[in-house]
Amino acid sequence: MSGQKGEILAQRPSRLGAFRRAGLALLLLCVPPVSIITAFGIAPDAAPVDVPSRIVVEPLAVPGGEPAAQGTQTFISQERVFRGDTVAALFERLGIEDRRALDFLKGDSVGRVIFRQLVPGRTIQARTGARAELLGLRYFVSPGTLLEVDRGMNGFVARMRAVADAPRVVYSAAEIRSSLFAATDAAGIPDAIAMQVTRIFATDIDFHVDLRKGDRLAIAYEMLYEAGELVAPGRILAAELVNDGHSYYAVLFHDEEGKDAYYSLDGSNRAKAFLRSPVEFSRVSSGFGARFHPIFKNWRAHTGVDFAAPQGTRVLASADGIVAAAGARGGYGNAVEIRHGGSINSLYGHLSRFAPGIRAGARVHQGDAIGYVGQTGWATGPHLHFEFRVNGVHQDPVLMARRHEAGVLSAELRPEFDRIARSMRVQLAAAARESVIASAQ
Ligand SMILES: [Zn+2]
Repeated sequence: MSGQKGEILAQRPSRLGAFRRAGLALLLLCVPPVSIITAFGIAPDAAPVDVPSRIVVEPLAVPGGEPAAQGTQTFISQERVFRGDTVAALFERLGIEDRRALDFLKGDSVGRVIFRQLVPGRTIQARTGARAELLGLRYFVSPGTLLEVDRGMNGFVARMRAVADAPRVVYSAAEIRSSLFAATDAAGIPDAIAMQVTRIFATDIDFHVDLRKGDRLAIAYEMLYEAGELVAPGRILAAELVNDGHSYYAVLFHDEEGKDAYYSLDGSNRAKAFLRSPVEFSRVSSGFGARFHPIFKNWRAHTGVDFAAPQGTRVLASADGIVAAAGARGGYGNAVEIRHGGSINSLYGHLSRFAPGIRAGARVHQGDAIGYVGQTGWATGPHLHFEFRVNGVHQDPVLMARRHEAGVLSAELRPEFDRIARSMRVQLAAAARESVIASAQ
């Protein structure tokens, strides 16, 4: 995975060179704020990675304009969300110093959605004043839905707005030589789309260990525009991942209730009941069953699986359910237990802290962040202890994930699904051919 990425359009690293701000302030006085946001838009995520962005600040001659009075300047800054990111960390990188704004977001029923929708690769934009106070915030909480937060006379207002323009479909393909992200970067496929790929195929592929040199990805995804301006990647419509010679397909389709999900070509829902690994990019450091305990130095049953991962890595809910408990729990340290129905419970131990809103009674969906990797309780290093209990009896989580399917499409819906899947396969095959030709040249 590539390192940190940030895009700077009009940033104000809080302690950095005043002259930058002067130049940008002059620029911003020329154009009414609304169009600035639209004009800048949220930087296209298609930008190739690791391209250092450079700010050019020149004193601008403002026709007949008076230099901005001190204290009235506004600044636009923009950042990209990274794995394990928090709103507080983003505020810091955006140069926002506004406790009240953060508290508002935490307390507001619309604004607080942002805490649970920090998707790596997505872009967030802020407008701040001379004292680094927040004036406005823009963030796509989902493809096509923009969260807008603005400071008004009587405090902050948060609202959701559907983005107008119809998404455009992009067909692309990539060959894996080292890692998935290196391949998608090289093909100009946005990070947010690459992350979706890891989630869609997470029930079959462990992207940390299963990928092979020469594996291929062909993909059809949406790019969202607003007033003709590229604003963000949307959803994946279809994808084919060839791993070790085996083809995995995913086609976006809806069930009877109109609920979207990804289906394999045989009409089975790809979202198996349980995620194979509730920690992104981790490896199993200790399996289920008898083992020599690292702390107690004796043989005892290991009632779960340990996933080693860096401190602070997001821990995801393995399936939909209700939080049965979240709190300190003896040797488990900070632990979350989720009730999935069918007398199946999952447990996540040694967490450094819980994700916002995670408490007993909270409803969670498969893939939601519920906490962060730590080493609380009986742990010798940062890792997640992950358990499954069926009727209170411990089960091997790896087998659980394999065993539970999430259902297939009904016979009524199959003809329409097959038609869409067929046309997508043709498009994906064409994209794959083109990318082979392109890389040969
Ligand atoms: Zn363990």
